[in-house]
Amino acid sequence: MDNNRILKNKEEQTMNHKDQELKKAGLKVTLPRIKILQILESTPEWHMTAEDIYQALRDAQEDVGIATVYRVLTQFEAAGLITRHSFDSGPAVYELDRGDGHDHMVCTETGKVVEFQDAEIQKIQAKIAKDNGYIVVGHSLVLYVKPI
Ligand SMILES: [Zn+2]
Repeated sequence: MDNNRILKNKEEQTMNHKDQELKKAGLKVTLPRIKILQILESTPEWHMTAEDIYQALRDAQEDVGIATVYRVLTQFEAAGLITRHSFDSGPAVYELDRGDGHDHMVCTETGKVVEFQDAEIQKIQAKIAKDNGYIVVGHSLVLYVKPI
C-alpha cells in the first residue's frame, strides 16, 4: 500500500468517525458540519470564536460562509456536542463538550482562555450547595486574570 493510499484511508476513517458523532447527536451529516467538528476537535486552543472557525475554514480552502458557521454552532450547541461560553470580554467562544466540568480563567489583557480543574474547589462548591439543601448539577466558574 503506498503512502497516498494510507493517507486516504486515514481521512476516510476520520470522516466516518465524524459521521457517527453527528448521527449520534441526531444531526444529518453535511460537509460544513463535518468540517467544523473537525476544526473544533483539532484545535490546540480548545476555545474558538465563530470568527476563528470561519478563518480556519478559509485557511483550509473550505467554502463555508460565516452565517453557516453560526448556524452549525447553534445546532451543535442544541445537540449537546459543544458548549458556548460568553465571557465578560470579547465574543462567545465554543468548545467541544468533553463532560469533564472544568473551569476557566480569562486573561483580561490578551483574551486568552485557560482551563483548570481543582478537586478542592469542586468539594467546596458541593459543600456550599449541600449546606443550602441542594446537590450540584452544573456549575460555571470564571476567573478574570492578568499576567503577574
Ligand atoms: Zn474549556
